[in-house]
Amino acid sequence: MAAALMDGRELAARIRAEVAEEVRELPPIGLATILVGDDPASHLYISLKHKAAEEVGIRPIDHRLPADTAQDEVLALVRRLNADGEVDAILPQLPLPDGLDEALVILAVDAVKDVDGFHPFNAGQLYLGRPTLVPATPLGIMALLAEQQVPLDGARAVVVGRSDIVGKPVAHLLLQANATVSICHSHTDDLARYTLDADVLVVAVGSAGVVGADMVKQGAVVVDVGQNQTEAGLVGDVDPSAADVASLITPVPGGVGPMTIAMLLRNTVRAAKYGHGLLAFPGR
Ligand code: NAP
Repeated sequence: MAAALMDGRELAARIRAEVAEEVRELPPIGLATILVGDDPASHLYISLKHKAAEEVGIRPIDHRLPADTAQDEVLALVRRLNADGEVDAILPQLPLPDGLDEALVILAVDAVKDVDGFHPFNAGQLYLGRPTLVPATPLGIMALLAEQQVPLDGARAVVVGRSDIVGKPVAHLLLQANATVSICHSHTDDLARYTLDADVLVVAVGSAGVVGADMVKQGAVVVDVGQNQTEAGLVGDVDPSAADVASLITPVPGGVGPMTIAMLLRNTVRAAKYGHGLLAFPGR
């Protein structure tokens, strides 16, 4: 029997509507984005984020810098935004052009305004089991699993990919939900040995079809984070035939993708609440 689809579009629309309602109750919220250079994909992502923010009543504040901007100039902009009372959240669009140090830029963002959850303080909070501002894609994955009431306590969860943006944070969230978590990566020997054991399989690699149907356990829940542009259009990391084996699977497109922007908006509201003292930010 084919797997049921975990519909990210429908859930994301519901979350955006909830966010819009919350925004109406709060003082004006500003989301500042920093886009450096001319990468077309980054330009597209920024315009999608701005549009989504506007739709829920969050004011996008657009900062664009040329590709050859010096590191110090980017850091100076971040510091200005840290000090700006109209800015509740700061999002430097990654990747930054060659020559700019992403780690330094992320470190410069005030942790309270770190809407992507990439700052070492927020990453550390997640590691310690005290999620504060958490990256949007992993939050979206957890929301999809929660929506389907996928049992995680004691479940065997396997995450393929160990990026700071998806793999590591989602592994921590699954661990906090009391799953037994394995993290696989490009050095993993015999990947199928791990994936075949997974009750919940999250794949965030960036390689079309890296997980085939023969690598999925009968009845497993499969979350496909991959977004790969191919001649056949946008495809995930998991071969579509895995739907014959899984019990639940995310479609690509229309699964994790829409959830990411919805959770970014939710994080923006969270950052604003921290900024206004409506939620206590740890240590402040
Ligand atoms: P990334 O930073 O490139 O990380 C990819 C991970 O996959 C790395 O940990 C890498 O291992 C691992 N890997 C590479 N080849 C492998 C293989 N053959 N077997 C097992 N592991 C392998 O990518 P990312 O930023 O996490 O993104 C992953 C995918 O998700 C991309 O397609 C991206 O477009 C997509 N994505 C989607 C969303 C969304 O909203 N839907 C958001 C973010 C990302 P090493 O660490 O050993 O190199």
